[in-house]
Amino acid sequence: MINKNWISRRKAILGVGTGVAAMAMSTAWAEEEAPSQHFMLSLEDPRSKYPKPPFKEQHQDWPALANKMEPRPDHGEKTYKGSGRLAGRKALVTGGDSGMGRAAAIAYAREGADVAINYLPAEESDAKEVMELIRKEGRRAVAIPGDLRSEDFCTQLVAKAVQELGGLDILVSNAARQQSHESIEDITTDQFDWTMKTNIYAPFWVIKAALPHLKPGACIIATTSVQAEDPSPELFDYAITKAATTNFVRSLAKQLGPKGIRVNGVAPGPIWTPLQLGGGSKPEKLKTFGEGTPLGRPGQPAELASIYVQLAASDASYANGQIYGAAGGGGHP
Ligand code: NAD
Ligand code: MG
Repeated sequence: MINKNWISRRKAILGVGTGVAAMAMSTAWAEEEAPSQHFMLSLEDPRSKYPKPPFKEQHQDWPALANKMEPRPDHGEKTYKGSGRLAGRKALVTGGDSGMGRAAAIAYAREGADVAINYLPAEESDAKEVMELIRKEGRRAVAIPGDLRSEDFCTQLVAKAVQELGGLDILVSNAARQQSHESIEDITTDQFDWTMKTNIYAPFWVIKAALPHLKPGACIIATTSVQAEDPSPELFDYAITKAATTNFVRSLAKQLGPKGIRVNGVAPGPIWTPLQLGGGSKPEKLKTFGEGTPLGRPGQPAELASIYVQLAASDASYANGQIYGAAGGGGHP
């Protein structure tokens, strides 16, 4: 039997709530005062923790939805446990409806932050799920749909987030467009422009609009990619933008460090998100997605959530201009 008093004290200290139930429980817990060395988490094998290839061949029109993917990605809905690391913070996450953005949004809310998310109107059904999850934590959830390719919208997005949240402490510039093309000759000027507008111009506009609101202690986190340093041949335009993202993280860190604002990046490897299904990868390639990594499977957005939390938390106060990778053993940030 488990000592209930002891668990409630642990809950108060760690704020882990329901997570305790999922942890391996030693019979030693039955003792009146369970010593901390008996508090154990079972080991998880990273190779078998999540689905691995082969996956079903599937395709969705852009923008693809997480709620139509098979298998459904894990954004931490049932798995992320918070512990008050971002209590009272106000965060804006672009592309917060799905993928890494949703994982960050859920984790931030569970760490005690109020969260605004931006997404495309066509992604409303995914966004609604995120809104509900944030509200379930008792945090403020703000939904701001709109197309980031418009400078006007980017300016309004930040203004609305600041107004609804009552300020801004964490900006996650995460939205992006990725389309796979065999040859540079298949990329039209319109498509090239679309990728540049979404992945380079929009962060420029959003960050510029956010800066007047960011105080010392605030931070910017950009989602870049292993593509920044090791581009795939079929991602010519996308990879250019990720190199630009890694680069602007480093220059902005130098520019904003003296103002007390930290800027860092997250560089994922192959992660199971809608971006890959809506033209980011060829359907036949998706069947073996992530197979080539040393862990033999793609990552799940939830596996990067703690990185977004860590980079935003005050105890990462000396992390500035850094790129944190999560690529299953392949790639490098
Ligand atoms: P995702 O599809 O879940 O997220 C991308 C989001 O970008 C979409 O949800 C959409 O809301 C947003 N978006 C795209 N165009 C937009 C526009 N014009 N206006 C407003 N919003 C727009 O996929 P994801 O993989 O989680 O992508 C998040 C980030 O991760 C991106 O920066 C992507 O480049 C990066 N990344 C992904 C992978 C991967 O394998 N999935 C690998 C490396 C880097
Ligand atoms: Mg989406």
